[in-house]
Amino acid sequence: QQARALVEARIAVIPDFPEPGVQFRDLTPVFADGPAFHALAEALTAPFAGRFDYLAGVEARGFLLAGAASALCGAGLLPVRKAGKLPRAVLTEHYSLEYGTAALEVHEGELPPGSRVLIVDDVLATGGTVGAAARLVERAGWHVAGISVAIELPELGGRARLGDRYEIYSLLQY
Ligand code: IMP
Repeated sequence: QQARALVEARIAVIPDFPEPGVQFRDLTPVFADGPAFHALAEALTAPFAGRFDYLAGVEARGFLLAGAASALCGAGLLPVRKAGKLPRAVLTEHYSLEYGTAALEVHEGELPPGSRVLIVDDVLATGGTVGAAARLVERAGWHVAGISVAIELPELGGRARLGDRYEIYSLLQY
C-alpha cells in the first residue's frame, strides 16, 4: 500500500556495516522524509488498533518510531532503554544481537498492572532485541499486545523464534 511504497523508496542499504557480511538497512532517510515517516508511524499501529494501551519503544531507533506513533494514536509510551540509563528501580534482560550482546531495562511499575503493550522497533532480525523487550513487559506484569517493526529480515529467524508466542507485524520484508 501507500506506506510501504513511501518507506521502501527511502531505505538505504549499506553493505558490510557495522561488520563485514552485514547488510545494514538504514532508516534515517525515512525519518528525514515527513510524509514517509508519518505513513510508517501510522502503519505500525494500524494492525493492532483497539488492542493496546501503550507503545513500548526500544532504544534508540524504536524511540523515534514509537514516539511518532504514540503522538499520532494518543497512546502513552514506555521507553525500553539500554542498561544503566533509567534512574529508578529497573528490570533487566540480557540478549544477544546479530552483532554483539546487550541488556535492556524498564522501570518497574511504570504502567498499571495488566496494561496491553505494543512493542515497536525498526528492525526484526534474530528477534533477540524485541524478545528481550517482550520478556521485560511480561516480567513487569503487563501483557504483550504484539510486536511491530518497520523491517523484518526473515532469514535471521526472529519470527520463527517469537511468532508462536506473539503477533508480529512488519511493513517490509527483505
Ligand atoms: P535482533 O535483535 O537480531 O532482532 O536485531 C534487531 C536489532 O538490531 C534492532 O534493534 C535493530 O536496530 C538492529 N539491527 C539489526 N539489523 C539491522 C539493520 O539492517 N539495520 C538497522 N538496524 C538493524
